[in-house]
Amino acid sequence: MSASPMATTPHAGKVRRRFLERLKQAGVTDPRVLRAFAEVPRHLLIPEALRDRAYQETPIPIGEGQTISAPGVVASMTMALQLEGHERVLEIGTGSGYQAAILARLASEVVSIERIPRLAASARSALDRFGVTNVVVFLGDGTRGRPDLAPFDRIVVTAGGPEIPRPLLEQLSPEGMLVGPFGPRGHQKLTRVRRGPNGGFKGEVLGECDFVDLIGQNGWQR
Ligand code: SAM
Repeated sequence: MSASPMATTPHAGKVRRRFLERLKQAGVTDPRVLRAFAEVPRHLLIPEALRDRAYQETPIPIGEGQTISAPGVVASMTMALQLEGHERVLEIGTGSGYQAAILARLASEVVSIERIPRLAASARSALDRFGVTNVVVFLGDGTRGRPDLAPFDRIVVTAGGPEIPRPLLEQLSPEGMLVGPFGPRGHQKLTRVRRGPNGGFKGEVLGECDFVDLIGQNGWQR
């Protein structure tokens, strides 16, 4: 990805310094993660009328009743994935493409699935404009994963489901990790599941959260 779009915004330096400072205060300490957040132009992924809110700690509507998650939430999920750079990552819920663009800088390959055609198309074209070459966006029901492209070292689910979709667990590599929000609507637990070397799963709750619905065969039925 070219690093330039962020640098071309008015007051870019000041806005970026404040944005990164807030992320650090919220516990984002990994310099690679901070660099990724510094370089991805979040303001170019949201509707023009809302751009002055781009670097605030708030979710922002992106159309079709969906949102781009608040940057701190994207950062927590990214940190929870503990990426070293060599991983193949599956993202469920491409949305604006922001999380995918961050992951692209921290992993070797990202497969992202979005169920809403307009969002999948606009995320694809934004990622192209940014020069991101290691993300592929598919249109479809992410709760089924992509068995044809599995296994994945990491899976991140960016919409809230009633429970962890079984096919996603099955598509994790040995010693892989899945992170996502699961539980009742409005009160999900941000959960991380690790697959052991011999196939067993171990889960932990990282916090409380409230995401838009994960809709699909292994999610909410609308
Ligand atoms: N990761 C996104 C970003 O960086 O902008 C934000 C995700 S938004 C909170 C959740 C997204 O998940 C929405 O775009 C929604 O359409 C999508 N979604 C919900 N259920 C899905 C499913 N079964 N498969 C794929 N995408 C799904």
